[in-house]
Amino acid sequence: MEAWQQSLAASLSAPAAIAARFGLDAVATASVASRYPLRLTTHLLELIETADDPLGRQFLPHEHELAADGLAEDPLAEQQLAPLPAIVHRYPSRVLLLAGNDCAAYCRFCTRKRRVGCAAFALPFGELLKGLDYIAATPAIREVILSGGDPLLLPDAALAELLERLRRIPHVGVLRIATRTLSVLPERITPALATLLGRHAPLFLTTHFNHPRELTPAADEACARLAAAGVPLANQTVLLRGVNDDEVTLVELCEGLLLRRVRPYCLHQLDPVRGTGHFRVPLERGLELTAALRRTVSGLAVPHYIVDLPGGRGKLALTPQSVVSLGETAVLRSAVGELVELPNR
Ligand SMILES: *Cc1c(COP(=O)(O)O)cnc(C)c1O
Repeated sequence: MEAWQQSLAASLSAPAAIAARFGLDAVATASVASRYPLRLTTHLLELIETADDPLGRQFLPHEHELAADGLAEDPLAEQQLAPLPAIVHRYPSRVLLLAGNDCAAYCRFCTRKRRVGCAAFALPFGELLKGLDYIAATPAIREVILSGGDPLLLPDAALAELLERLRRIPHVGVLRIATRTLSVLPERITPALATLLGRHAPLFLTTHFNHPRELTPAADEACARLAAAGVPLANQTVLLRGVNDDEVTLVELCEGLLLRRVRPYCLHQLDPVRGTGHFRVPLERGLELTAALRRTVSGLAVPHYIVDLPGGRGKLALTPQSVVSLGETAVLRSAVGELVELPNR
């Protein structure tokens, strides 16, 4: 076993132990855990101070997860967009390959909360190989996004095999790997892994940091190692009530990412997934925060504010109202709210 696998195996997942450690109600913790899995890595156990701090909120169970919130299990209709268990294909040019159904930490607001970590949705390697056949037979696909679960929970040998097989498909250009490990299991980013990923360029890695406290020395080292190996880094943040829905936190996060050579890529509106209603932030607030970032930080550090439309209608970038009117002369609203005319013909 590699060191990161031993570390993962040492995680805390027993509901009683988690409840005792953080002063949670033991019965509520056990009932949440019986529906949605829990896992706290050693790294997270060091980071979480209290159940209601920005880290505790993201990873510790809450009874609201079981509330009748009227939200759908699969609002993005991924199940309908899945020609095979390991594939989600919504945009012709790019496809998700669900490279495993397990995760190191099970964020409580996960968009695939209905399935990640559930045995009924396990994805054995054979299913991944069928996914590769689908990609090979679909020439419109130019980019493959390894998602999951967390693809970096695959052992190096399995990941290497997947990447090599993908590289043998001539129409596949860009590879992307989406992982939560830099926040929750940074020791996964070993020198050997960085070298492996660097060998398959152009391969982009999308990290998932939601709060500046996730930017630990161990995460810094992982970012530096990947960047040095030639792996471009982009970050996805989910906008979460009580975690990062304030200007100071988002500014510190986005600037902190850029300093670590991670380009803030998307600020995601939380998908309306059953069991995550207590994290919801209204769009008005997200737009205000996007405008505040635009006024405050480097353009390189401003993420797109993205809402993934229900029913599988795709992602949409929202911008604060900037176009007032068009015509001979356009009227635009500046970042600080001034109306400005611009010759337009
Ligand atoms: C988010 C997503 C993508 C990637 O979208 P980008 O805009 O390229 O980041 C691709 N396929 C599916 C199904 C997605 O949900």
